[in-house]
Amino acid sequence: MKAITFRGTESVALENVPDPKIEASTDVIVKNRLTAICGSDLHVYFGRETGNDPGTPMGHEFLGEVVEVGSAVGTLLPGDVVVSPFTSNCGACFYCKKGLTCRCTRGQLFGWVENGKGLAGVQAEYTRVPLADATAFKIPEGIEDEPALFLGDILATGFFCADMAGVEPGGVYAVVGCGPVGLLAIVAARELGAETVFAIDRLPERLELAKGFGATPVNAVVADAKAIVDEATDGRGADAVLEVVGSPEATRLAVDLVRPGGVISAVGVHTESSFAFSPGEAYDKNLTYRAGRCPVRHYMERLLPLVRDGKYDLSAIVSHRLPLEDGVRGYELFANKLEACTKVTLTP
Ligand code: NAD
Ligand code: ZN
Repeated sequence: MKAITFRGTESVALENVPDPKIEASTDVIVKNRLTAICGSDLHVYFGRETGNDPGTPMGHEFLGEVVEVGSAVGTLLPGDVVVSPFTSNCGACFYCKKGLTCRCTRGQLFGWVENGKGLAGVQAEYTRVPLADATAFKIPEGIEDEPALFLGDILATGFFCADMAGVEPGGVYAVVGCGPVGLLAIVAARELGAETVFAIDRLPERLELAKGFGATPVNAVVADAKAIVDEATDGRGADAVLEVVGSPEATRLAVDLVRPGGVISAVGVHTESSFAFSPGEAYDKNLTYRAGRCPVRHYMERLLPLVRDGKYDLSAIVSHRLPLEDGVRGYELFANKLEACTKVTLTP
């Protein structure tokens, strides 16, 4: 099958790779109908995360039709349309039972193969989904592919970020980073009742989308985000800051924006080795810092109404709809934010 594979730093390729096969009786094979490139793929692409074997199919966002079912799979049939979280999970271990499905003791990340071990990525024609009964999420009929695809990562992660932030009506919130995940974190914050959400980024086209979802855009290139948030809060700072970038600069800004007793909810993937703030600063602000990978599977049922009811035009975040064959170009566009690129889908 065709796949977009990792070749090295800033290098991906369209290659022919072997079709996935059922390896365990709990697997299913999915014929992908829609896949996408995520900001998380860029950490691999730019070499901030290292160790992925060259030749590994990239990606973890996909929706498709089950075409083959392992003998121990009980809930899925060929023809079912499914979306999967970006990690697999068993549904039965300590962490799965607690709802922390992203830390399943048997979980694997799609698109990460190290020294020959791991799980192939999904920017390809087919995907093998392990522990499929617990991992895959069946999409009911009548739901559009694009918003449904977002359930498997960016919508769930945006919601997780707002949830960890403790968003509630009446609060003042700041979202640092308005990529696809930050934009959907804004949607989530609105859904949880937030009226005042400042959306901070440097890219006008993304800030425009943030405005469309009901946030107040703040272009960090020309405006002083801290002054704006302080003015809206009698100088206190934001009740919570949703950090959706994954860089020391973004963390630093979050610390500057949050009020004493506030929360920083960080879903940006961090690859640096120390914090951009000191223990003393955390103490002096009575800071709560919450972070981590989204337990996507835990949130999918809850978020289904959001993709079904069309209350928000979630597809507005997709700027480029390309065939899988153009995946290399898709990476160039998304990685370098060319042509006002905000989100790329790849259709096999
Ligand atoms: P993206 O790269 O498209 O978006 C990042 C945005 O942040 C861009 O719009 C960029 O202009 C903006 N930005 C960069 N530095 C900034 C700064 N200092 N201040 C304000 N804005 C700044 O990526 P995305 O797909 O939206 O993903 C965002 C982050 O979320 C990535 O780190 C990704 O790996 C992570 N992520 C985490 C999870 C999880 O489970 N925790 C899941 C998915 C994605
Ligand atoms: Zn992702």
